[in-house]
Amino acid sequence: MTHVIVVGAGTAGLPAAIEAADRGATVTLVEKTDRVGGTLWLSSAIMSGAGTRMQKAKGYEDSPQQHFEDCFAIGRGRNDPVLLRLATEVAAETIDWLEQIGVPFTADSPRLAPEHELYTRPRSHYIQPIPGTPGSGRNAIPPLERELKRRMDTGSIELRLRTSVTKLLQDGRGNVVGVRVAGPDGEAEIRGDAVILATGGYGGNVELLRRLHPKFDHVITLCPHEADGSGLLLAQEVGGTTAFMDSLIPLPGGVPNPESPGDCLYWVMLPNQRPPAEAGDIYVNKLGKRYIREDEKHPDARERAMMQQPETAMIAVFDEPMRQGLTPRIAEYTKRELEGGRGNPNVIVSAPTIEALAQKLGIDPATLRATIERYNGFVERGVDEDFGREAMPKKLDTPPFHAVVTYGVVLGTMGGVKVNGQLQVVREDGSPIGGLYAAGEILGKGQIMGDGVCSGLAAGPAFSFGRVAARNAVAAFAGAPAEAAR
Ligand SMILES: Cc1cc2nc3c(=O)[nH]c(=O)nc-3n(C[C@H](O)[C@H](O)[C@H](O)COP(=O)(O)OP(=O)(O)OC[C@H]3O[C@@H](n4cnc5c(N)ncnc54)[C@H](O)[C@@H]3O)c2cc1C
Repeated sequence: MTHVIVVGAGTAGLPAAIEAADRGATVTLVEKTDRVGGTLWLSSAIMSGAGTRMQKAKGYEDSPQQHFEDCFAIGRGRNDPVLLRLATEVAAETIDWLEQIGVPFTADSPRLAPEHELYTRPRSHYIQPIPGTPGSGRNAIPPLERELKRRMDTGSIELRLRTSVTKLLQDGRGNVVGVRVAGPDGEAEIRGDAVILATGGYGGNVELLRRLHPKFDHVITLCPHEADGSGLLLAQEVGGTTAFMDSLIPLPGGVPNPESPGDCLYWVMLPNQRPPAEAGDIYVNKLGKRYIREDEKHPDARERAMMQQPETAMIAVFDEPMRQGLTPRIAEYTKRELEGGRGNPNVIVSAPTIEALAQKLGIDPATLRATIERYNGFVERGVDEDFGREAMPKKLDTPPFHAVVTYGVVLGTMGGVKVNGQLQVVREDGSPIGGLYAAGEILGKGQIMGDGVCSGLAAGPAFSFGRVAARNAVAAFAGAPAEAAR
């Protein structure tokens, strides 16, 4: 019987283990933390897919080809077409499967996802959130855990928690034939026919992030600390090559956690979910200068502009009436959250004058005053001569003045292990490493998304590729043809 070792019991690893068991393999699922779920504990896990049951029920016309084309456009054509093809073709099947095992989706799924560049069709599927908890991906964990448990009860899956894979074992020809683990009982070797690396990205490893991307030495992260890139190193040690390692797309709006340097306290999403036009605030950089029209509709343009600013800082500046007049949605981020600050009362920085505010922010006071006076002139004349902002409800002129300082926040990494259409890890010359597969963010989002952020194209492919890698791994040892991108 084929023995498959799945490394990491997260978004990709759980479906990989379940699928491998269902294809007749025995599975060892190795997870270094004390629980399954991985990034699903924090992620929104919005998934995009064309042709799902939910999409058909709403009568939306769509196709994997259209999904592919949308993603290719958003990714500036840098997506790996083979992997993007696979991701878009298997997406519907995966989402339908998740729905079928009991993952609760919102009634309005699928819809357009304004958090990222819009697709041409509503195809982003949202999981129902659990009130009071971050993200909604965690609502996918109980059904997956139930499915896992069922296979554990029949003996087809063995789950080893608190166990890290520290090395991949190879035979004389370089094929991967097992793993070395370190767990509660010490070190051991587990032999298997195939190993699926589903260890996630490196977004939780701030030191590595800043080392690999020195330009972004102030980014903070929302990724779990266990997303530390260890799987990437394991693959490299056996000759696996990488792709997109020079790419990182932090998103604007991360408030640093003062208690845990490098971590994001929360993502205020000022530019994403808060209509700045209503609030009237301006965004300045650490030099005290505006750098974008605050009502910019394109998330991609907001990301690119923020990425060019010193320290990836985006500072929202507003006055007292703006703070008072915020809409309920915005108020959620100010009165209840920002002022309460989830334990950080200093999220809103306030001062009686613009100069005093600038000093608190470490910005040259004369520059901030000049920026605000220039903007107020635009409001008076009704024309933003610098950036073309259209909605300018009022001047920024009534003390006290306020600011929220945010930094680029990482929700996942773009670079990772290079794989072929069968999800086999490949060497630099393109040859596959026998017995070694990879799925999920260990591939990096860039191979699928290209040079952009496509809604639901990280969690979705993680679920899908876990399943596909499992099918391919089992088929390879049963002599059946592997499932590849068409
Ligand atoms: C806040 C947030 C919001 C997001 N929202 C979305 C969204 O809405 N839509 C979307 O598409 N994507 C989203 N993402 C990204 C997406 O959730 C992730 O890309 C995806 O969940 C990663 O899945 P994975 O299986 O690759 O990794 P994970 O789910 O992180 O699983 C990896 C597992 O491997 C384990 N592991 C690591 N190394 C080892 C080792 N050496 N030995 C044993 N175990 C190991 C880890 O402990 C972990 O359990 C979001 C991410 C974040 C952080």
